[in-house]
Amino acid sequence: MREERERETEQRGFLVDLMLLRLGRWLRLLGQDVANPENDCDEALLGQAKREGRILITRDKRLFSSCSAAGVEGILIRSSQISEQILEMAERGIALRIDPQRCTLCNNPLEEAEGRRGELWICPVCQRFYWRGGHWKSMEEMLMALNHRMHQRE
Ligand SMILES: [Zn+2]
Repeated sequence: MREERERETEQRGFLVDLMLLRLGRWLRLLGQDVANPENDCDEALLGQAKREGRILITRDKRLFSSCSAAGVEGILIRSSQISEQILEMAERGIALRIDPQRCTLCNNPLEEAEGRRGELWICPVCQRFYWRGGHWKSMEEMLMALNHRMHQRE
């Protein structure tokens, strides 16, 4: 049941504003479809979210409050700290585990390297490689610590 609920959340795409590009990279690492803004003015962000059917994630209260009139679902992030921002998304049902589906830079779907399934992934657009190395482990440790904190709050 829990798996199904998580998958439903994962199907919805997001759009981050320019203040939240780093959060966007983390969400992609967690398997989320997160677009970067084409333009940072409020109207353009709302237009892109609407056109692409994405949930707009922002730290801008004014932009957040104009979401409903524009027919866009919005999420207001309150913290300026990346770990807190990730927790705010986790509280909305985003699972805190690395799921290499999207390039963290360009959001393109990743391809598994031939003969190294579950080990090595490549972004066909920017040619970036993803594998379970030291960097991956330190990110996993951060996610484990966040998971721990979230369960303490419950
Ligand atoms: Zn890429």
